Amino acid sequence: MAQGKPIVPRNKENPVGQVARIRRSSAAIRRQLSAARKLLKAKISSWPFQIIETNAKRYEYQISLGELSSVADEILIAMIGESSHELVVSEAMAAYENGTAQSAVNIGNISDDYTREITDILSGAPYQRRVSLISARVFEEMRGFDAQAAKELSRVLRNAVEVGDNPLSIVGKLSNQFGISQGRGEKIARTEITGALRRARMDEAEDARQRQGIRLAMKHFSANSSTTRQSHAARHGLLFSVQAVREWYAQDANGINCKCSQVEVLVDESGKEIGAGKKKARQIN
Ligand SMILES: [Zn+2]
Repeated sequence: MAQGKPIVPRNKENPVGQVARIRRSSAAIRRQLSAARKLLKAKISSWPFQIIETNAKRYEYQISLGELSSVADEILIAMIGESSHELVVSEAMAAYENGTAQSAVNIGNISDDYTREITDILSGAPYQRRVSLISARVFEEMRGFDAQAAKELSRVLRNAVEVGDNPLSIVGKLSNQFGISQGRGEKIARTEITGALRRARMDEAEDARQRQGIRLAMKHFSANSSTTRQSHAARHGLLFSVQAVREWYAQDANGINCKCSQVEVLVDESGKEIGAGKKKARQIN
Protein backbone atom coordinates (compact mmCIF):
# COMPACT_ATOMS: atom_id res chain seq x y z
CA MET A 1 0.00 0.00 0.00
CA ALA A 2 2.56 2.59 1.02
CA GLN A 3 5.00 3.21 -1.77
CA GLY A 4 6.78 6.41 -0.83
CA LYS A 5 8.41 7.81 2.24
CA PRO A 6 6.97 10.88 3.96
CA ILE A 7 8.37 14.11 2.58
CA VAL A 8 10.24 15.67 5.49
CA PRO A 9 11.15 19.34 5.87
CA ARG A 10 14.39 20.24 4.11
CA ASN A 11 15.38 23.09 6.40
CA LYS A 12 16.39 21.60 9.74
CA GLU A 13 16.73 25.03 11.36
CA ASN A 14 13.29 26.13 10.28
CA PRO A 15 11.07 23.19 9.36
CA VAL A 16 7.90 25.24 8.95
CA GLY A 17 9.53 27.70 6.51
CA GLN A 18 7.38 30.58 5.19
CA VAL A 19 10.32 32.97 5.51
CA ALA A 20 9.45 35.12 2.48
CA ARG A 21 5.82 35.54 3.57
CA ILE A 22 6.92 36.60 7.04
CA ARG A 23 9.47 39.02 5.58
CA ARG A 24 6.88 40.65 3.31
CA SER A 25 4.50 40.98 6.24
CA SER A 26 7.18 42.59 8.40
CA ALA A 27 7.89 45.13 5.67
CA ALA A 28 4.18 45.96 5.37
CA ILE A 29 3.91 46.44 9.14
CA ARG A 30 6.97 48.69 9.06
CA ARG A 31 5.37 50.83 6.31
CA GLN A 32 2.21 51.05 8.35
CA LEU A 33 4.06 52.17 11.47
CA SER A 34 6.18 54.64 9.55
CA ALA A 35 2.99 56.44 8.48
CA ALA A 36 2.24 56.92 12.17
CA ARG A 37 5.83 57.94 12.83
CA LYS A 38 5.66 60.66 10.15
CA LEU A 39 2.44 61.98 11.59
CA LEU A 40 3.86 62.17 15.11
CA LYS A 41 7.09 63.83 14.01
CA ALA A 42 5.17 66.51 12.13
CA LYS A 43 2.92 67.05 15.10
CA ILE A 44 5.70 67.42 17.64
CA SER A 45 7.65 69.84 15.47
CA SER A 46 4.52 71.96 14.94
CA TRP A 47 3.84 72.44 18.64
CA PRO A 48 5.04 75.76 20.05
CA PHE A 49 6.73 75.43 23.43
CA GLN A 50 8.17 77.48 26.25
CA ILE A 51 11.23 76.45 28.15
CA ILE A 52 10.74 76.69 31.85
CA GLU A 53 13.80 76.56 34.05
CA THR A 54 13.25 75.90 37.69
CA ASN A 55 15.32 73.07 39.09
CA ALA A 56 15.57 71.38 35.74
CA LYS A 57 14.78 72.46 32.22
CA ARG A 58 11.17 71.72 31.28
CA TYR A 59 9.46 72.08 27.95
CA GLU A 60 5.90 73.27 28.13
CA TYR A 61 4.01 72.64 24.91
CA GLN A 62 1.24 75.01 23.91
CA ILE A 63 -1.29 72.37 22.99
CA SER A 64 -4.75 71.74 24.27
CA LEU A 65 -5.67 68.65 26.20
CA GLY A 66 -8.20 67.91 23.48
CA GLU A 67 -5.49 67.96 20.86
CA LEU A 68 -3.33 65.64 22.93
CA SER A 69 -6.12 63.19 23.59
CA SER A 70 -7.13 62.99 19.92
CA VAL A 71 -3.63 61.78 18.98
CA ALA A 72 -4.47 58.11 19.50
CA ASP A 73 -7.31 58.37 16.98
CA GLU A 74 -5.09 60.17 14.51
CA ILE A 75 -2.39 57.52 14.82
CA LEU A 76 -5.00 54.86 14.19
CA ILE A 77 -6.24 56.66 11.10
CA ALA A 78 -2.67 57.01 9.79
CA MET A 79 -2.07 53.30 10.40
CA ILE A 80 -5.30 52.28 8.69
CA GLY A 81 -4.39 54.49 5.74
CA GLU A 82 -1.26 52.40 5.23
CA SER A 83 -2.80 49.20 6.46
CA SER A 84 -0.78 45.99 6.36
CA HIS A 85 -3.87 43.89 7.03
CA GLU A 86 -4.65 42.96 3.47
CA LEU A 87 -1.13 41.72 2.86
CA VAL A 88 -0.81 39.80 6.13
CA VAL A 89 -4.24 38.21 5.57
CA SER A 90 -3.34 37.17 2.03
CA GLU A 91 0.02 35.77 3.15
CA ALA A 92 -1.74 33.69 5.81
CA MET A 93 -4.26 32.46 3.24
CA ALA A 94 -1.43 31.60 0.86
CA ALA A 95 0.31 29.73 3.69
CA TYR A 96 -2.89 27.76 4.25
CA GLU A 97 -3.01 26.86 0.56
CA ASN A 98 0.68 25.98 0.67
CA GLY A 99 0.09 23.68 3.65
CA THR A 100 -2.85 22.01 1.92
CA ALA A 101 -0.70 21.35 -1.15
CA GLN A 102 2.19 20.01 0.97
CA SER A 103 -0.23 17.72 2.72
CA ALA A 104 -1.86 16.49 -0.50
CA VAL A 105 1.50 15.76 -2.12
CA ASN A 106 2.81 14.01 0.99
CA ILE A 107 -0.26 11.86 1.66
CA GLY A 108 -0.47 11.03 -2.06
CA ASN A 109 3.13 9.92 -1.84
CA ILE A 110 2.65 7.56 1.11
CA SER A 111 -0.80 6.19 0.35
CA ASP A 112 -2.43 4.82 -2.79
CA ASP A 113 -5.78 5.31 -1.13
CA TYR A 114 -5.41 9.05 -1.31
CA THR A 115 -7.15 10.16 -4.46
CA ARG A 116 -7.82 13.80 -3.78
CA GLU A 117 -6.66 16.31 -6.37
CA ILE A 118 -5.37 19.60 -5.06
CA THR A 119 -7.56 21.60 -7.48
CA ASP A 120 -10.66 19.80 -6.21
CA ILE A 121 -9.70 20.42 -2.60
CA LEU A 122 -9.10 24.12 -3.18
CA SER A 123 -12.42 24.65 -4.91
CA GLY A 124 -14.37 22.65 -2.34
CA ALA A 125 -16.74 24.23 0.17
CA PRO A 126 -14.90 23.00 3.33
CA TYR A 127 -11.65 24.53 2.10
CA GLN A 128 -13.31 27.82 1.23
CA ARG A 129 -14.94 27.95 4.63
CA ARG A 130 -11.66 27.29 6.46
CA VAL A 131 -9.83 29.88 4.44
CA SER A 132 -12.42 32.51 5.23
CA LEU A 133 -12.10 31.63 8.92
CA ILE A 134 -8.34 32.16 8.68
CA SER A 135 -8.84 35.46 6.93
CA ALA A 136 -11.32 36.71 9.55
CA ARG A 137 -9.06 35.61 12.35
CA VAL A 138 -5.92 37.29 11.00
CA PHE A 139 -7.86 40.44 10.17
CA GLU A 140 -9.14 40.58 13.75
CA GLU A 141 -5.64 40.05 15.18
CA MET A 142 -4.21 42.83 13.04
CA ARG A 143 -7.00 45.19 13.98
CA GLY A 144 -6.19 44.55 17.61
CA PHE A 145 -2.55 45.25 16.81
CA ASP A 146 -3.38 48.67 15.30
CA ALA A 147 -5.49 49.68 18.26
CA GLN A 148 -2.89 48.64 20.79
CA ALA A 149 -0.03 50.31 18.91
CA ALA A 150 -1.98 53.59 18.64
CA LYS A 151 -2.89 53.49 22.29
CA GLU A 152 0.66 52.83 23.47
CA LEU A 153 2.25 55.40 21.19
CA SER A 154 -0.14 58.08 22.32
CA ARG A 155 0.49 57.16 25.95
CA VAL A 156 4.25 57.48 25.50
CA LEU A 157 3.71 60.84 23.81
CA ARG A 158 1.40 62.11 26.50
CA ASN A 159 3.73 61.05 29.32
CA ALA A 160 6.70 62.72 27.65
CA VAL A 161 4.72 65.93 27.16
CA GLU A 162 3.60 65.88 30.78
CA VAL A 163 7.12 65.35 32.04
CA GLY A 164 8.32 68.24 29.88
CA ASP A 165 10.77 66.37 27.68
CA ASN A 166 12.42 68.22 24.83
CA PRO A 167 11.18 67.40 21.29
CA LEU A 168 14.21 65.26 20.49
CA SER A 169 13.77 63.19 23.58
CA ILE A 170 10.06 62.69 22.80
CA VAL A 171 10.98 61.43 19.35
CA GLY A 172 13.51 59.10 20.94
CA LYS A 173 10.97 57.65 23.35
CA LEU A 174 8.50 57.19 20.50
CA SER A 175 11.17 55.46 18.44
CA ASN A 176 11.66 52.97 21.19
CA GLN A 177 7.91 52.35 21.31
CA PHE A 178 7.80 51.94 17.52
CA GLY A 179 10.38 49.20 17.88
CA ILE A 180 8.23 47.42 20.44
CA SER A 181 5.14 47.72 18.22
CA GLN A 182 7.03 46.48 15.18
CA GLY A 183 8.17 43.45 17.15
CA ARG A 184 4.66 42.72 18.29
CA GLY A 185 3.22 43.07 14.79
CA GLU A 186 5.86 40.74 13.40
CA LYS A 187 5.14 38.19 16.08
CA ILE A 188 1.45 38.22 15.18
CA ALA A 189 2.18 37.86 11.46
CA ARG A 190 4.72 35.08 12.03
CA THR A 191 2.42 33.19 14.36
CA GLU A 192 -0.61 33.49 12.07
CA ILE A 193 1.26 32.55 8.88
CA THR A 194 2.99 29.50 10.32
CA GLY A 195 -0.18 28.60 12.22
CA ALA A 196 -2.18 28.69 8.97
CA LEU A 197 0.26 26.31 7.32
CA ARG A 198 0.13 23.85 10.20
CA ARG A 199 -3.63 24.06 10.43
CA ALA A 200 -3.91 23.31 6.71
CA ARG A 201 -1.88 20.13 7.08
CA MET A 202 -3.89 18.97 10.05
CA ASP A 203 -7.18 19.74 8.31
CA GLU A 204 -6.14 17.76 5.25
CA ALA A 205 -4.83 14.86 7.35
CA GLU A 206 -8.10 14.77 9.24
CA ASP A 207 -10.09 14.85 6.01
CA ALA A 208 -8.03 12.04 4.52
CA ARG A 209 -8.73 9.97 7.59
CA GLN A 210 -12.42 10.73 7.78
CA ARG A 211 -13.31 10.64 4.10
CA GLN A 212 -10.86 8.06 2.81
CA GLY A 213 -10.10 6.03 5.89
CA ILE A 214 -6.35 6.64 5.68
CA ARG A 215 -4.80 6.11 9.09
CA LEU A 216 -2.44 8.99 9.65
CA ALA A 217 -0.51 10.54 12.49
CA MET A 218 1.50 13.76 12.61
CA LYS A 219 5.25 13.41 13.03
CA HIS A 220 6.83 16.34 14.80
CA PHE A 221 9.89 18.06 13.31
CA SER A 222 11.40 20.50 15.73
CA ALA A 223 13.70 23.33 14.69
CA ASN A 224 17.26 22.54 15.58
CA SER A 225 18.21 26.10 16.47
CA SER A 226 19.53 27.95 19.49
CA THR A 227 16.13 29.47 20.26
CA THR A 228 14.18 26.18 20.14
CA ARG A 229 12.26 25.59 23.34
CA GLN A 230 13.17 22.42 25.22
CA SER A 231 9.55 21.28 25.24
CA HIS A 232 9.41 21.64 21.45
CA ALA A 233 12.72 19.89 20.85
CA ALA A 234 11.56 17.03 23.07
CA ARG A 235 8.77 16.25 20.57
CA HIS A 236 11.13 15.84 17.63
CA GLY A 237 10.45 12.58 15.79
CA LEU A 238 7.44 11.69 17.91
CA LEU A 239 4.01 10.89 16.51
CA PHE A 240 0.83 12.57 17.63
CA SER A 241 -2.78 12.47 16.59
CA VAL A 242 -4.10 15.54 14.80
CA GLN A 243 -6.23 16.31 17.83
CA ALA A 244 -3.24 16.11 20.17
CA VAL A 245 -1.27 18.53 17.98
CA ARG A 246 -4.19 20.96 17.87
CA GLU A 247 -4.50 20.84 21.64
CA TRP A 248 -0.79 21.31 22.15
CA TYR A 249 -0.77 24.42 19.97
CA ALA A 250 -3.78 25.78 21.81
CA GLN A 251 -1.88 25.53 25.09
CA ASP A 252 0.42 28.12 26.61
CA ALA A 253 2.28 30.05 23.95
CA ASN A 254 3.30 27.01 21.93
CA GLY A 255 2.20 28.53 18.63
CA ILE A 256 4.11 31.75 19.15
CA ASN A 257 7.50 31.94 17.42
CA CYS A 258 7.35 28.21 16.75
CA LYS A 259 9.31 26.91 13.77
CA CYS A 260 8.31 23.29 14.26
CA SER A 261 6.45 21.42 11.57
CA GLN A 262 4.33 18.28 11.47
CA VAL A 263 4.35 15.78 8.65
CA GLU A 264 1.64 13.19 7.98
CA VAL A 265 2.82 9.58 8.31
CA LEU A 266 0.93 6.32 7.84
CA VAL A 267 0.36 4.33 11.02
CA ASP A 268 -0.93 0.84 11.77
CA GLU A 269 -3.76 -0.09 14.14
CA SER A 270 -1.51 0.27 17.16
CA GLY A 271 -0.35 3.72 16.09
CA LYS A 272 3.12 2.67 14.94
CA GLU A 273 4.55 4.30 11.86
CA ILE A 274 4.37 1.97 8.87
CA GLY A 275 7.70 1.49 7.13
CA ALA A 276 9.71 3.24 9.80
CA GLY A 277 11.29 0.09 11.22
CA LYS A 278 11.23 -1.00 14.81
CA LYS A 279 13.63 1.61 16.10
CA LYS A 280 11.64 4.57 14.91
CA ALA A 281 8.24 3.37 16.02
CA ARG A 282 7.08 5.77 18.70
CA GLN A 283 3.98 6.19 20.68
CA ILE A 284 0.88 7.95 19.44
CA ASN A 285 -0.95 10.21 21.82
ZN1 LIG B 1 8.16 24.70 18.01
